[in-house]
Amino acid sequence: MDKFQHDGWCPICEKNETFISEHSWFRDHLLCSGCGSIPRERAIFKIIKDYFPDYKNLMIHETSPGVRGASIKLQKECIHYTTSQYFPSIPSGSTHPSGYRCENLEALTFSDNFFDVFISQDVMEHIFNPEKAFKEIVRVLKPGGAHIFTVPIINKTKKSERWASMSDNGEIIYHHEPEYHGNPVDAKGSLVTMHWGYDIASLIQEVAKMPTVIIQIDDIDKGIRAEYIDVLVSIKQY
Ligand SMILES: [Zn+2]
Repeated sequence: MDKFQHDGWCPICEKNETFISEHSWFRDHLLCSGCGSIPRERAIFKIIKDYFPDYKNLMIHETSPGVRGASIKLQKECIHYTTSQYFPSIPSGSTHPSGYRCENLEALTFSDNFFDVFISQDVMEHIFNPEKAFKEIVRVLKPGGAHIFTVPIINKTKKSERWASMSDNGEIIYHHEPEYHGNPVDAKGSLVTMHWGYDIASLIQEVAKMPTVIIQIDDIDKGIRAEYIDVLVSIKQY
């Protein structure tokens, strides 16, 4: 396709920038000329600011942060922003040679009621036991705190489907042809375990008692236009 170009205002740069794509698949290619972010990163950052205008002073944790966009901005601006990555080879809570704290979303080592905001960007489709992960996330959130995240809801109105799971003895069970997404800390990529549908919100309510809204933004003037860029906000009630 011809190069797409649109002048607008980037929620991450917080100034006028140009959004440019050389490909029709905007999800991975509609880049901000200022920060290099993609649409879902601008969407989640806008939602973080909308829901938590005081985010710079809050206790924020991000699992598997990105290498640009919202993650870098939060790192720069938030005094209490921390991150972790999952390394199966080392104990949770310890520090990997890469400098990252190791945390397994299904068994976090943080205390209860610890964070105001828990962030994940395209992570929840790679968890073997997402039910356990949602329970852990609600446990470490303070009442009134939120899990704000992006996840590709590729099944849309169809039911969520388990794509891969793990047996009790640690073997991976493939229910369908294996799929992988790029992972900055693992060259093999991350195995896709879930094809989510909009029923993800009911599952979170059921297992973690967190009401969840699914926010779909289409706002080309903020560079937010693409498939599968829903932002989910789950609030801890008590
Ligand atoms: Zn930008």
